[in-house]
Formats: sequence, structure tokens, C-alpha cells
Amino acid sequence: MIPSVRRLTALCAIGAALAPLAACGTPEEPRTARPAAHAPASPAPTRPPTLAPGPAGLTPVFTRAPRTADKAVALTFDADMTADQGARAAAGEHFDNPGLIAALRALKVPATVFMTGRWAEEYPDQARSLGRDPRFEIANHSYSHYAFTDDCYGLPTVPADKMRADVERAYKAFRNAGVPNAMPYFRFPGGCYDRQALRAVSGMGVTAVQWDVVSGDAFATDADAVARQVLEGVQPGSVVVMHCTRSAAPTTERAVRAIVPELRRQGYRFVKVSELIGAASGRR
Ligand SMILES: [Zn+2]
Repeated sequence: MIPSVRRLTALCAIGAALAPLAACGTPEEPRTARPAAHAPASPAPTRPPTLAPGPAGLTPVFTRAPRTADKAVALTFDADMTADQGARAAAGEHFDNPGLIAALRALKVPATVFMTGRWAEEYPDQARSLGRDPRFEIANHSYSHYAFTDDCYGLPTVPADKMRADVERAYKAFRNAGVPNAMPYFRFPGGCYDRQALRAVSGMGVTAVQWDVVSGDAFATDADAVARQVLEGVQPGSVVVMHCTRSAAPTTERAVRAIVPELRRQGYRFVKVSELIGAASGRR
């Protein structure tokens, strides 16, 4: 089922005033697991696991892995920077969060970073460092971080005939930064999508990635509250959405330092999104 924009909005934890970092939850049943449509010819390197396209070739959407006894959880971090925020960065605003990345490395937590192309242009050294560190995988969060639907937290909208180019421009920005193998996963800005958006980015071989746990880290000031919300929401196979930007998610590092040991104490292990998609599609 494809949630309407209105339903997405109704479920969102963050209001329209917080548009640039909008993140909302869209719990839904996971798509029926099927192997990737285009299995690579042997031998390795194997293509990362993806879900098969949906009806009429629509881009498949992954929300979380099927619930099993495997207590795996994927922390995902949106590295948000919008195409029109260059002046703010030049004025000293920090859209990156090196402390968070250092904490993930120190805690030995694998993670998936959904990066905008504009972020990679602003922080090419960090993008390259993440992209070359096997602990992390870089996925696509559009170039512009403009919305792929109308009515998405007040974000400017990408016209339908420019959506595919916006995604491709982000991959180009990653390559220019020196990221060798960005993943074929795409997260819609604000998590807002509809059938038109799924059609617009179809044929690129990407799987759209949503989440089932909203951390609430965007504009949060209470790290403990963020940690509590995550700990209450996580189940086996969960995908947690957080952010990698000091500008609008200043408590995320502290929240992660609380979340990680507690989930480990509960028997969870941290994985990248690719592992959950691999499990859902029958590949490991
Ligand atoms: Zn975002």
C-alpha cells in the first residue's frame, strides 16, 4: 500500500515549521520478500541486495525487515543539507556532525548514512572518509533535499520530470567526493512519496528506504528523551531514522551513546540497511 501524503503527514512527529529536517514514520507491512531482480553474474563483487520492483515496475519501498528472532537493528542517519543552505554553511552553520561519526566508530556501530548530494559537496572529505570505511554505507537522500511530493513540511518541490535527475546528481556528487560505492538505496526527503514519485525514480534500480522507528532527534534538546523514544520503538529488524547534522540535531551523539549500550544489553546487534534488505530478499 502506498500511503498518501496526507496520511504520512498525519503520522509525522515533526511539524511543518521544522521542514528542513522533516522525518515522519510510515509503519506498514514489509513488502513481500523476493530476490533482487537482476542478480549479478558470478563471481563477486556482488551488487548490494535490493527489493524487486513493485507492480508496474514501481520503485520498491523497504521499511523494516520481517520480525524474526534475529535481534538486528539498523541505525540510519540522514546527512541533510538543502540546496539553498550554502550561504548558511558559509556563515558558519554546521550541517555535519564529526563527533557523531567518531562515536559510531568508537562504539563499533555499523550504520547507513543517507546523504544529500549538497552535503557531499560541502563536506567532501567526510563523505569520502565515510564512503571508504567498511563500517558505513552511503545511500542517497537526493541532491537538493527538496520534496518529491506536494505538501511535505513546506519543502520546495522537485518537479516530477526532474526527480530522477536530482537522484542522479546526488550519486554524481558522491563520486566527485571520492565515494567509491554508494548504495542503490534512496530515502525521499521528509519521507514523503506517492505513486508519481515512485514512478519517477523507477528504472534506476534503487530501493526506497523508509523506517519504522522515529528517533525524534530533529531539533531535540533532550538526548534522554530521544534515547527513550528509540528504545521503546525498536523491535527485531527495525530501521531507526536519526540525523547527522549538528545544525538541526544537536543531541544525536549523546542519544546514540545511551542507545547503543542499552540495545546491546538487550541482545541486539547493529547492522547496515543492506543486511536487513538482504534478509528480506533472501540474500545475506
Ligand atoms: Zn532529510
